[in-house]
Amino acid sequence: MFKSSVQWKVVTMFVLIVIAIMMVFGISIKQQISSFYLNNFSEEISTAFSNDLTNQLNDAVLSGNPVKKINNILNTYSGRLGINSNRSYYVLSKKTGSVYSSDGNTTALDKTSNIISAMAGKVGSEVHSDDNFMDYAYPVGDYIVYIKDSKKEILNITQTMLVNVSQALLIGIIFAIVLGFIMSRTITRPILFMTKKAEAIARGRFDTKIDIRSRDEIGKLAKTFNYMTSVIKSSMDEIDQEKVKLETVLRNMNDGVIAFDDKQHIMFINPEAKTMLNITDEEEKEIVFDEYFKQFEVDICLAEMLYLDHFETISKDLTINGRFYKTYFASFKVDNTKSDGVVVVIQDVTESQRLEQSRREFVANVSHELRTPLTTIKTYAETLYDSSNDGDELKFLKVIIREVDRMTRIVKELLSLSSLDNGKLPIMKTNFELEDLVNDVVTKMKFQAEDSKLELSYTSMAKSPTIYADIDRIEQVITNIISNSIKYTAEGGKIDVFTGYLYNEAYIKIKDNGVGIPEKDLPRIFERFYRVDKARSREKGGTGLGLAIAYEIVKLHGGTITINSVFHEGTEVIIKLPVGENLNPIVSQEENTENSQKPIDK
Ligand code: ADP
Repeated sequence: MFKSSVQWKVVTMFVLIVIAIMMVFGISIKQQISSFYLNNFSEEISTAFSNDLTNQLNDAVLSGNPVKKINNILNTYSGRLGINSNRSYYVLSKKTGSVYSSDGNTTALDKTSNIISAMAGKVGSEVHSDDNFMDYAYPVGDYIVYIKDSKKEILNITQTMLVNVSQALLIGIIFAIVLGFIMSRTITRPILFMTKKAEAIARGRFDTKIDIRSRDEIGKLAKTFNYMTSVIKSSMDEIDQEKVKLETVLRNMNDGVIAFDDKQHIMFINPEAKTMLNITDEEEKEIVFDEYFKQFEVDICLAEMLYLDHFETISKDLTINGRFYKTYFASFKVDNTKSDGVVVVIQDVTESQRLEQSRREFVANVSHELRTPLTTIKTYAETLYDSSNDGDELKFLKVIIREVDRMTRIVKELLSLSSLDNGKLPIMKTNFELEDLVNDVVTKMKFQAEDSKLELSYTSMAKSPTIYADIDRIEQVITNIISNSIKYTAEGGKIDVFTGYLYNEAYIKIKDNGVGIPEKDLPRIFERFYRVDKARSREKGGTGLGLAIAYEIVKLHGGTITINSVFHEGTEVIIKLPVGENLNPIVSQEENTENSQKPIDK
């Protein structure tokens, strides 16, 4: 613990610095002492061997008993030559090799490079720092005056110096430890202080402030830390506010909202959802997404939503205790890599369903009531028409009969829509060939098309397998679509009918180059009474119910009907039907619609 602390690191650093300084200092002092002594020796000896001494030595060589004379001279000069216990002088005979010394030591000396030089007649004055002695050899006739210093003084001084340096080093290390400890505390104390404050902030205490006023890096860090705290605090406050707002909205909204996490458990549920689905607080924890919605026969799986249908909002219908709910499922994610859960929004549509139902019942009742009076009006109008000769009267009666016919058609279509809504339209399913049916319808309608000066053609693109459906209803749909094309295509236009088989579905395509439908009207085109150009529709005897009926019939057979159109260019209607008896067995309309809800707007 201590080893990894900043204090330990600072102390170690201080100690290492002291050791390094002392080592450099020690080595440099040692070298300086050594070179000072070498220089001093060379200078002292060469000064001593001045002309005066050398002349005297040369004279002594020429006299009798030169060794004694040389000895005497050197003795006289011993002060200048620095002769002491560490430095001696010797007189060596070149011929005999005998030795006369100042310290009485007459044992043979090692032949140093300086002695060899002197033997050759040259002054040997070289000194080397790595030798353990310093010497000087001066040739005088057959003799060599030899001065040798044992360097003991240098060694003594160096040793004393090393002892001093070691003591200083020890004191330095102690100082370094103490200073390092004190200095490091000035760094670590604010850090420890900040660590404690950071821990407090992590626990949510954002009012915590660090009070360090120094202007150094630590002071700057403390300032930045305080600033960061205030930024985090304001962000957290904002998040809290948003959370409160969102929760208030969710708690008070009329729709139910439930959020499930990716483990299928409830993360959030608002009171409205609890009431709608009758969920108690205890049940809330037990609910598992897949199992929960399976009990309402809603075919939805959380894993699929999270990993396959990322971006789709899935809409499902729920019926609970006689109430109808529209339910929307959407996955949500925090980052872009994976989904975090699914949000379910539940809308209670019971009231609008009931209103829609009573509206439909009303329309059905009115239509039913109108049937008999209309028949009566028509019968009387026709009788009057047959017996009248008055031109104006005949004109009025004709208008009456035409309008009664239109009203009768509307009533008939409203009644069949009502039967479709209530599942009461009888469906008689048989096997038949789609191509034969379409061919018959096209042949029948050719005259009508020719009357409007239109070209009507039929092409089979691919033979479809046998269709199992109510042939009359499918014929009704095709007839209606072709008659729309006839109604809304100008003279000289063209209507092409195709049949084919693609991806296990039979299709019928009716394409015209008529007036077309503006893009904005397309989404509402299958609504009841929705007409793009009311005047034109009325003039052509339209009711605005044909496409709504076609939509319901195709839906009842498990197929789809789509309409594509470009305004002023033409329209294309595609009806797709599943093929084969076993692929979509529709036994009766009641059975098919028993569990499904009625669409609201169609
Ligand atoms: P309608 O009895 O008025 O024809 P439909 O329900 O059959 O009623 O059609 C609804 C409306 O769609 C029509 O009023 C017309 O404006 C438009 N429509 C349908 N088919 C075509 C088509 N082939 N070309 C242009 N408009 C069309």
